Amino acid sequence: MEKQGLAISDGIVCGKILIYEPYNPEGVEYEADCLEGTQERLDAYLQALDSARLELDGIIDAVKRHSLEKAEIFQTHKILVNDVAIDQEIQEQIMSGKPVSQAITDVFALFIRMLGQAKNSFTNERAADLKDVRNRILRCLEGKPDKNLSLLPEPCVIFARELLPSDTATIDQKNVRAIVTELGGATSHTAIIARSYGIPAVLGVEDLLSYAADGDDVIVDGAAGVVILRPDAQKMDEYRQKQVVSEKCRQIAQAYRHIPAVTQDGTAVAIELNISSVGRLSADDIAVADGVGLMRSEFLYMQSKGRPPDEEDQFREYKAAVCAFKGKPVILRTLDIGGDKQLPYMALPQEDNPFLGKRALRLCLKETAIFRTQLRAALRASYFGELWLMFPMVGSLEDFRAAKAFTRSVMAELDKEKIPYNRNIPLGIMIEIPSIALIADQVVQEVDFASIGTNDLCQYLMAADRLNPSVASYYQDYHPALFRLIGYVAEQFSKSGKSLSVCGELGGNPAAAIALVGLGLRTLSMNAASIAEVKQVITGITVQEAQQLATAVCALETAVEAKRILTEAAEAIAHRSVTVQQNVNNA
Ligand code: PEP
Ligand code: MG
Repeated sequence: MEKQGLAISDGIVCGKILIYEPYNPEGVEYEADCLEGTQERLDAYLQALDSARLELDGIIDAVKRHSLEKAEIFQTHKILVNDVAIDQEIQEQIMSGKPVSQAITDVFALFIRMLGQAKNSFTNERAADLKDVRNRILRCLEGKPDKNLSLLPEPCVIFARELLPSDTATIDQKNVRAIVTELGGATSHTAIIARSYGIPAVLGVEDLLSYAADGDDVIVDGAAGVVILRPDAQKMDEYRQKQVVSEKCRQIAQAYRHIPAVTQDGTAVAIELNISSVGRLSADDIAVADGVGLMRSEFLYMQSKGRPPDEEDQFREYKAAVCAFKGKPVILRTLDIGGDKQLPYMALPQEDNPFLGKRALRLCLKETAIFRTQLRAALRASYFGELWLMFPMVGSLEDFRAAKAFTRSVMAELDKEKIPYNRNIPLGIMIEIPSIALIADQVVQEVDFASIGTNDLCQYLMAADRLNPSVASYYQDYHPALFRLIGYVAEQFSKSGKSLSVCGELGGNPAAAIALVGLGLRTLSMNAASIAEVKQVITGITVQEAQQLATAVCALETAVEAKRILTEAAEAIAHRSVTVQQNVNNA
């Protein structure tokens, strides 16, 4: 059976399905609760406890071979499973007649509350661990198997209704061969992470889970957005051949990774990286990039368990990034939480339209304690290298002025404490709301730099939720209107000479990159996995050709035509470079 979804991340994979459903204890009816005798209920609890211990032993054993840090987390869980006080309390409640699941839930709730109230961040973190352990014991009580994306026993293709950024942020990169989901759009954060890890992905496949089972064979063609369930031998053969061709093209493009992105007529385009953490980059990624155009700091917050990362955690991370890039700019985007990015330990307001709500800078300007901690850490790190600060979701100059004033107040605090930082740290904004793009002529007078976030700019311009597959056809990131708007912003910035980049997904797309260069962009920021192909097109075109294409695209009526023209141009360049490479090999 063949299903069509959104083509998110390139690559062809033939593998076995693993269905991922995060465990949710709410509303479960447990057989153990219906057992007649108290002793039977107690036995069921003890058995669940034993299963939880066994699972954890297996996990610790497997994880410690790859990551001692991850193993430590599970060691802590084992200590909690063995905690005598919790165990005794649960046993007593079962003996006094409480249903097993209720006794487990109530006792854990008590301990979670106690730890959650503690001021100490270490103890707070344990509260989050307790929730994990409670869910493990309840799942064992229900007799359901463990499914966890951070540790997979063998290579597999993940099928899920939806993956949250927190699932993908900790995913077992080595064993996830492809990702397929029912929900999620082309610029959802799951899509962005899949691309940055180079994992083929197809999202927005309707009704996926009703047709799939664990262990089924599947073919995923990330470039075409095609998923083939239980393929026959002929299909397998066909796709194995396609796999060989696509791997060859990928290898040819890789040769461009190490050369500077200079157009045929000598114009240099800076290629920067979008990163979540510098620890995830290879030495080669750092060497081939001209800096970091977007450090999504919220991933540090999403990976932190039970509490936000404190000033020291953040300072270490930001300092490591600027030191690794040795004088090249590292643009740190301040916390962009809200929308599809949630923090389990932070109760964000429930909103009907979270993407239009209290997100990113709007939230930071209200939750000033969190903002202050981040700015202190960032400013301290600025002393050690070329750190630039960028504010997300700026809709008006007042927003920028408020963020700037707050940053100045944090600087004054550091001055009082005699803590060094770069007083001239560049302060800039993301251009991702149409209102700020349309006053780029005024914006450029006030900011030190800006970066265009095409993922959100497209969402807000086209009024189409970037996550919702049912409006994916309205989310037209090749729409001439978007290119015209980007062109207007680029014109204002190039007059002033201030730095402007594109850090949305369009910047890492070879076809769109041609139009962006034609519109005047001289810095593009992207995932490490996109660098080779973008450099391949930039080095294969003149600025004049790019300008002609950009002008043509802006004059078109539809996104479909714009995409076709640009894709054909990119393919022609890639084809030329394959021929050149073959000639070199044959010579
Ligand atoms: C964007 O909106 O284009 C962007 C880069 O930010 P994010 O995808 O993290 O919202
Ligand atoms: Mg954005």
